[in-house]
Amino acid sequence: MFELHVLGTSSARFAHGRSVSGSVLSTPGGLALIDCGEGMQKRMLDHNRALKSSGSESRTRISRIRAVFLTHGHLDHTWGLLPLLQTLDLDGRRDRMVVMGPSTTEAIEWATQHPGEAPPVESGISSTDLAILFSQWQAIGTKDDDSSYTIDWVLLPMDGDTPFESPIQPLEGVTVTVVPNHHGVPSCGYHFETKGKAGRFDRARADSLGLSETQIAELAQGQDLMHEGAEITAASFRGNPRPGCSLMMSGDTKFGPSGFDVEKLPSPPRLLLHEATFLADKQDKASEYYHSTAADAARHATMCKAKTLALTHYSSRIERLSASISEAREHFTGSVAATSDGDWFEIDSNGDVIHNVRIENGWNKMNL
Ligand SMILES: [Zn+2]
Repeated sequence: MFELHVLGTSSARFAHGRSVSGSVLSTPGGLALIDCGEGMQKRMLDHNRALKSSGSESRTRISRIRAVFLTHGHLDHTWGLLPLLQTLDLDGRRDRMVVMGPSTTEAIEWATQHPGEAPPVESGISSTDLAILFSQWQAIGTKDDDSSYTIDWVLLPMDGDTPFESPIQPLEGVTVTVVPNHHGVPSCGYHFETKGKAGRFDRARADSLGLSETQIAELAQGQDLMHEGAEITAASFRGNPRPGCSLMMSGDTKFGPSGFDVEKLPSPPRLLLHEATFLADKQDKASEYYHSTAADAARHATMCKAKTLALTHYSSRIERLSASISEAREHFTGSVAATSDGDWFEIDSNGDVIHNVRIENGWNKMNL
């Protein structure tokens, strides 16, 4: 099962009680962060405490993070990362940490030749490209020899539009696919998927036939058997195959990356968490600043055949979320949810999605 705890739903700045971007993804292969804006470690602590006091068994402990997936280098998505990494050092962490994010071949080469420096304007390389930021962060405070743990900094060159499997897979049993997006700096979304499983084995039926333990084990492993002169087929003892869990997060993006086409993805995501900075009345602004409207998010959800669309990353101009939801519903026939800070989603291996809506003393569960 996946859980996605969304701890910041505002774009660019704090507004209407919303923090900037940062989500915690819990998977069978461990915990990951997707983006890490300002104050993320405090948000995780507060959220963890609230989960505990609500009686939930879910947790968002920073010590459990295996990997950080950054969608791009803008500071509202990254400014909380360095302090969080330093807290883990103070806590004496030993386990390796993976931090990955998009860049370009050109920026990676430049940062390799000029470690810790900002690129000159004429180079055309953004000073918030992650290749530049990673090399600066390493220079400031995360040198391997002083730190209690090792960080693997992984840069993903975004030189095309086609999704590709991440070169590092830090979450055991989970396949991460990188989905290039269109933003002012290199940006990407991530698709996460667990492998499907065979249908459940009908042990009670095998027992009722009086088979030996060895025969039952063979049957469970898929071997057909002869029993009392009749053939027993292993497949008939299996229920329907159980599909894997899948979810996808967009980076900051304007409408149009071809990676949202379902044909290019490993599977249609059960849940798509997509930025919806603007409403359609600001379509020109959305295109100019490489962001999406709620309608754009919905069109992407339709293209990738998502089951459920959850909106996030609202402009400070948007206070109430009802217009964003109605707009998205005009372009997408699946379920649409507007995410608020502290909401979390559960996606089980049947593909069912539950939206836990934050209320004062806990959460209300809603099936999507
Ligand atoms: Zn943003």
